Amino acid sequence: MTGFRASGDLSVMDLKMDALLLRAVDYGENDRMVTLLTAERGKIGAAMKGVRKAGAKLRFASQPFCFAEYVLAEKGGRNTVTQASLHDGFYDLRTNVGAYYAAACVTEVCDLFAMENMAAGPLLVCAVTALGEIEQNLAAPDPALVKFLAEAVMLAGYPLSAGDCPVCGKKLSGRRYFDLQTGAFNCSDCAVGVPASPSTYDAIRSALYSIDKTFPDGEGAHAEADGYRRALRLLRAYIAYQTDAALPALSQYVAL
Ligand SMILES: [Zn+2]
Repeated sequence: MTGFRASGDLSVMDLKMDALLLRAVDYGENDRMVTLLTAERGKIGAAMKGVRKAGAKLRFASQPFCFAEYVLAEKGGRNTVTQASLHDGFYDLRTNVGAYYAAACVTEVCDLFAMENMAAGPLLVCAVTALGEIEQNLAAPDPALVKFLAEAVMLAGYPLSAGDCPVCGKKLSGRRYFDLQTGAFNCSDCAVGVPASPSTYDAIRSALYSIDKTFPDGEGAHAEADGYRRALRLLRAYIAYQTDAALPALSQYVAL
């Protein structure tokens, strides 16, 4: 929603959008610069004045993982948050360090894949869903994070599949290989890419099935806990290979 109002010489445009806070950096005495993920405009930067003061009305909206309806005043190409009404603060994430770091991986990857002035509705939905799922299962955030990363890479245009060997057509058994160029697993005879365990493959299959219930033969796909952890390492390597991004939060998370 947008609206214009006059303010001196420069016109001010109000933007009202649902957004997830991806990043916040302190500046000045009491201010923060935030990076928001919106459906309509993708990534958008905005100043939040005075939010570091104790008791500041909009303090909540400058916190990590805040999902809110933000009102931004846009003037001369700069945005300032003037109002916010909370949808979900995901506050329980702060009670568990592992879940908190998993959530930080979600916002880090959104920050990487989202662009300014490019609609990002599906990524926003996927990220907010993931934060909710991580919050619902604080002790075991890996399956939700694998599902999020799998969906996010595909939304960003990188393929990801876990079927039969795409090179020779054989059904996979035993050790597999993951091709970092094509995002597909192949067999130990073809052996293209990096080695991957059956449990890694199972975790990716289970994520693909939870994203799309029509995924062939995916019903009942599940993986052991270490499979999800290995799948996270694989997805980190895949994203790093495709984008050259350092991914500090995800790299630290998979090293835990
Ligand atoms: Zn093969």
